Amino acid sequence: MASKILTTQAELDAIFEKMEKDYGALNRRQQAYAIKEIGRVRGDLADLLADFADSDGTIKRQRASRILRELDGIERSLRQNGTLALENIIEESSEWTTARLAGVVGISTAGIERVNKHVIKYVIKRFGEDGLVLSDRIWGLSGEIRDDIATVIRSNIIKGEGINAMIPQIRKVYDNETWKVRRLARNESVTAHRAAISYNAQESDFVEWLQFHHGVKRTQACVDLSEEDRYGKGTGIFKPTDTDIWLPHVNCTGYATYILDERWL
Ligand SMILES: [Zn+2]
Repeated sequence: MASKILTTQAELDAIFEKMEKDYGALNRRQQAYAIKEIGRVRGDLADLLADFADSDGTIKRQRASRILRELDGIERSLRQNGTLALENIIEESSEWTTARLAGVVGISTAGIERVNKHVIKYVIKRFGEDGLVLSDRIWGLSGEIRDDIATVIRSNIIKGEGINAMIPQIRKVYDNETWKVRRLARNESVTAHRAAISYNAQESDFVEWLQFHHGVKRTQACVDLSEEDRYGKGTGIFKPTDTDIWLPHVNCTGYATYILDERWL
């Protein structure tokens, strides 16, 4: 049975090499998707400004506090769109990874469902090195964007500038925050991808050990893991339950591969 599923370690390594390359493309698409989804509130914001503006395009000072209060709704939309986008990305990364590995290491349909459920729960609930869970990070980011928008609106109302001057400045607020959205999409997705690799190994009868490879940037935390011999099995050899190899640092480009159990070779 084993020989039907797996052939050699070299072939398994090739599967991982191809997967990591394809995963890079998937992740770039996911980053673009998150930016688009979070940026969708720009339309609502333009409508809001238009509602408060006079026919000459300016907003009277007496209306300033009301329009700033209306930003509560914008912030709520940022949070909702951001949460949905990030959850979709996590789910996609897990399912994408599991779809590539389940057949290779002999995981049942029930096993596949179990893996994806574990991954999604883990990634959404975990505390990152920043001490925060995903919803905190989205909450923080939405609040920062809202505060920057409020500053633009307030200062333009004081100066008597019209909404035509405000809208490009608000666009700039989003552009300035893009790297944060990108980083969030990247780190959540990578964590889901690597958690899926490990959970699939846990479900499989053929894989007991993982090999961790440091990223191209040779970040110290990453290199240390790849040189660590935690179990006397060799450097960079870890168990599928070792969660510390999933995201050793932000923007990690390291990756894990399976060591084929000798019993099946
Ligand atoms: Zn790394």
